[in-house]
Amino acid sequence: MKELLGNQTSVLLMAIAFIAILLLLIFVFFRIGKLRRKLDESYQQNANINSDFKKLESMYQDTLLSYNKLNTRYDELHKNRESIMKLAYTDHLTELPNRIAFIEMLDNIMVTLRSEEIISIMDIDLDNFKNINDTLGHSYGDELLIDVTHRLRQVLDENDYLSRIGGDEFIILTQNLKDTAGYEEKIKKVRNVFTFPFELSSKEYFITVSIGVAFAPKDGRTGQNLIKNVNSAMYVAKANGKNTYAYFEHTFNQMLTDKIELQSELRKAIEKQEFVLFYQAQMDLVNKKVLGFEALIRWNHPSKGLLYPNDFIYLAEESGLIVPIGKWVLKSACLQLSEWVNMGYNDISMAVNLSTRQFRDKDFVQMVFDVIEETGIDPKKLELEITESVALENLDYTISTIMELKAIGVRFSLDDFGTGYSSMSYLKRLPVSNLKIDKSFLDTVMDDTSDQKIIQAIISLAKNLDLHVIAEGVERSDQEQFLQSSNCNIAQGFLYSKPVPKERAVEFLNSMNF
Ligand code: C2E
Ligand code: MG
Ligand code: MG
Repeated sequence: MKELLGNQTSVLLMAIAFIAILLLLIFVFFRIGKLRRKLDESYQQNANINSDFKKLESMYQDTLLSYNKLNTRYDELHKNRESIMKLAYTDHLTELPNRIAFIEMLDNIMVTLRSEEIISIMDIDLDNFKNINDTLGHSYGDELLIDVTHRLRQVLDENDYLSRIGGDEFIILTQNLKDTAGYEEKIKKVRNVFTFPFELSSKEYFITVSIGVAFAPKDGRTGQNLIKNVNSAMYVAKANGKNTYAYFEHTFNQMLTDKIELQSELRKAIEKQEFVLFYQAQMDLVNKKVLGFEALIRWNHPSKGLLYPNDFIYLAEESGLIVPIGKWVLKSACLQLSEWVNMGYNDISMAVNLSTRQFRDKDFVQMVFDVIEETGIDPKKLELEITESVALENLDYTISTIMELKAIGVRFSLDDFGTGYSSMSYLKRLPVSNLKIDKSFLDTVMDDTSDQKIIQAIISLAKNLDLHVIAEGVERSDQEQFLQSSNCNIAQGFLYSKPVPKERAVEFLNSMNF
């Protein structure tokens, strides 16, 4: 029994142990499952982290790439900005600082200018630059501007700042000036560079400049004011006949306002019939007869009275109004000649002055043809006067233009001879018929033996070239005697007659010739 009981107990115990082991196994099994799931999860997480990391890494690479791209773009923009700034501040043709750069520079200097400091600005404007552009074309105009820049650069020192502020306008700004007295030397240097001809299209051209000068603080306390004033000074130099210079004076601004007013009045003067022609006799000294007349324009100004050519021709030139005015002059002079011929004064000639712009006008030759036809004059009685500077500006053009008109009998005179370059070498190439010796020679001829020799030399040279010589501005009989003894037999001057209205010209003609 005991044994049976013992067996049963041990079976029970074994069963319990078995169940316990089973339970433990089940527990372990579940635990392992759980652990495995956890392990799987953490594998998954790890994989996720890994892929996130990869994503982050590629994002980082992308950002780095974008950053680099941005950086190069920034560099490009920076470079662009620099070149845009350079473009905005540099004159592309001459590579000089331009107007904007000059104004900024001047403004900065003016703000910090101490009372004991002096600065100067020199406004240099080429004379008749438009003619170069019109006759040779813009590329030669550009070439000239570059040549001018090179020459100006050579006269600069460390205190100078050269800029091109407009088409044919340059400015030299000079700092650290001790006084204004020594400035004359600088102007001389600048003008000196224009004493040599410029070579354009394998030909030589003489270029002159008009210069205005202003000092700060004396002539202006702001940059704007100083620029306005130096410009007035430059315009005064132009009005004084170009190829000269002027220091700013406070009266200049009024003069400029007057000038602008006069120019606008000039515009209406033709249609208001305010121009008149006066006539000055040209005398044959051998038999004291009138050979012809020179027509000289006057402006009957409504409030200013009778104005002379020197008061307004330069304005007409500047504005281009000289073209219609010049046509009016030619037509009126030819009509007058035709009227005199109809009155029986058959043998007289008529001289008419031409200005640069008019002579260079593309329709000039046709215009002269038309006027001759309309007025019915004999072209052989017409003399057209050009000055040396006009003739020389473009010698080939001058020669061909003269030849076209010479073909129908029109003659040309070289006016004011002796005041320009008076180069004898070109004289033989010019198909002109007359040479008019300038009044300035006659003014001093009786006191100055070298002037006498010059005039005599001009006369004999002209005769050798088959030219008639006309002496201008004869006022006294001793001058007349000198001319006669020197073989110059045509003269014009107050000694015989001043320029007079047509009625008085006829009276004079009657008194001398009939
Ligand atoms: P120019 O052609 O040399 O004309 C001669 C100038 O000298 C004239 O001045 C005349 O009055 C002046 N004159 C003549 N004889 C004497 C004299 O004995 N003594 C003095 N002191 N002067 C004398 P004007 O009429 O004032 O003309 C000045 C300039 O204006 C002319 O010089 C000419 O270049 C220009 N001009 C005149 N009329 C015209 C015109 O219709 N068209 C153009 N483009 N220019 C003109
Ligand atoms: Mg003349
Ligand atoms: Mg003259």
